[in-house]
Amino acid sequence: MNECIFCKIATGEIPCDKLYEDDDVVAFSDINPAAPVHILIIPKKHLPTLNDIDDKNAHLIAKMHLVAKELAHAKKISAGGYRIIINCNSDAGQEVFHLHLHLLGGKPLGPMIACR
Ligand code: AMP
Ligand code: ZN
Repeated sequence: MNECIFCKIATGEIPCDKLYEDDDVVAFSDINPAAPVHILIIPKKHLPTLNDIDDKNAHLIAKMHLVAKELAHAKKISAGGYRIIINCNSDAGQEVFHLHLHLLGGKPLGPMIACR
């Protein structure tokens, strides 16, 4: 049985504030937002981390970024700017092991001091 929370969001088994869906990806609001706009974009296919990207599924990464760009426009943060983050494994603080892209914006985000 698949216990992955983002797989369950992708199938509708767990509710979310869904902002976009197509055959490949789903986008929804982060439940614990770190910025006024904080959206998660996931592939419907279960891929645990960015390390699982290969030639066969790399189109999903392009699609996730395209959806991020479109949602940034829809949320009116394109001109002001936004940040895209993919955490990969424990040193990056990845908590949910279903690949996801964070789209953050709506305020000045400052430098990425957590990397220092
Ligand atoms: P990461 O640390 O990159 O794995 O990020 C996981 C993100 O998923 C965090 O920002 C959480 O707030 C978010 N999250 C966890 N569960 C849910 C949920 N059920 N709906 C929306 N966002 C979630
Ligand atoms: Zn999953």
